Amino acid sequence: MKSALIIGITGQDGAYLSRLLCDKGYRVAGTSRDAQMANRSGLAALGVADRVTIHSASVTDFRGLWQAVERCEPDEIYNLAGQSSVGLSFEQPLETFESVAAATLNILELLRLLGKPVRLYNACSTEVFGNAPGPADEESPFRPRSPYAVAKAAAHWAVANYREAYGLYACSGILSNHESPLRPQRFVTRKIVAAACRIAGGSGERLSLGNTDVVRDWGWAGEYVDAMWRMLQQDEPGDYVIATGRSFSLQDFIVRVFAELGLDHADHVDRNPGLLRPSDILVSRANPAKSQEKLGWRATMAMPEVAAAMVRAEQKTSHQETIA
Ligand code: NDP
Repeated sequence: MKSALIIGITGQDGAYLSRLLCDKGYRVAGTSRDAQMANRSGLAALGVADRVTIHSASVTDFRGLWQAVERCEPDEIYNLAGQSSVGLSFEQPLETFESVAAATLNILELLRLLGKPVRLYNACSTEVFGNAPGPADEESPFRPRSPYAVAKAAAHWAVANYREAYGLYACSGILSNHESPLRPQRFVTRKIVAAACRIAGGSGERLSLGNTDVVRDWGWAGEYVDAMWRMLQQDEPGDYVIATGRSFSLQDFIVRVFAELGLDHADHVDRNPGLLRPSDILVSRANPAKSQEKLGWRATMAMPEVAAAMVRAEQKTSHQETIA
């Protein structure tokens, strides 16, 4: 039986990856900064809360991580922890850098000193490409436009350096935005879906948003975790762009969500300049050709399917809450 340690198991991707690995027969453990207080709702929603063990360890604390690794003896480590919001990174730049870049270095040092053939997946992001002139691939230059992207870029190069310098099996997945009902509402997709469902239920509120012209590639989290796993099953470690290859504007997403509910978005949405970021990526496009060819991975859900699935899930949840 293979063993996996998911650092940051309580997040959106941690929950989906836990389900995937449990279903594959892995023994799955994870870390949370405080296991007793850990938010297990995502794991519970996917039916795996009782199938995983959670250890207390902060991703920046060498000793805590070392203990977790000793207990789990993992074959594979997935680093999904850290401050993951681009917007929040402008308010918490140092916390973001430490929990993403310094933390990744911490894990790499641990693996170097451990000296065992443990494989590492590191969660990078297409945010590192900034406003790329065309669809970005593994060879495209990094032009980060947020403290989050700066931290992800630093972590990415640390992984590449340890792979080259020490021969570690370490990979970065450069993932485009991927969504699910497990996204917290501070992320704009879930904010839109949740508000639209409340409006459809008669709340009478208005939805206030920043720049809705931004273009992104939105996929489905449940599919993206499969790409993470595939990366660690290859003969050689490498970096892979994971995306649907289809980008849409946020405006397109809004129109789609409200249309799913039989509503006209124009009657319910306001633009709020106060919500604009100090700097933002206008257009994000990514080319997943390498992952399609080498990993045999391909997204089946892009923005339209993601929007519809999120609306369906939100309606189900709010219906359950009404009953309770
Ligand atoms: P989440 O924010 O849902 O989960 C990350 C986990 O990290 C949290 O559950 C939390 O666990 C821990 N964490 C949060 N803040 C901090 C902090 N300041 N310091 C240390 N730990 C923290 O992220 P996702 O599951 O959505 O994403 C997983 C990884 O993939 C992240 O690194 C993210 O940046 C990256 N990524 C995500 C994309 C997406 O669209 N979802 C796109 C590209 C990359 P706890 O509180 O239990 O300690």
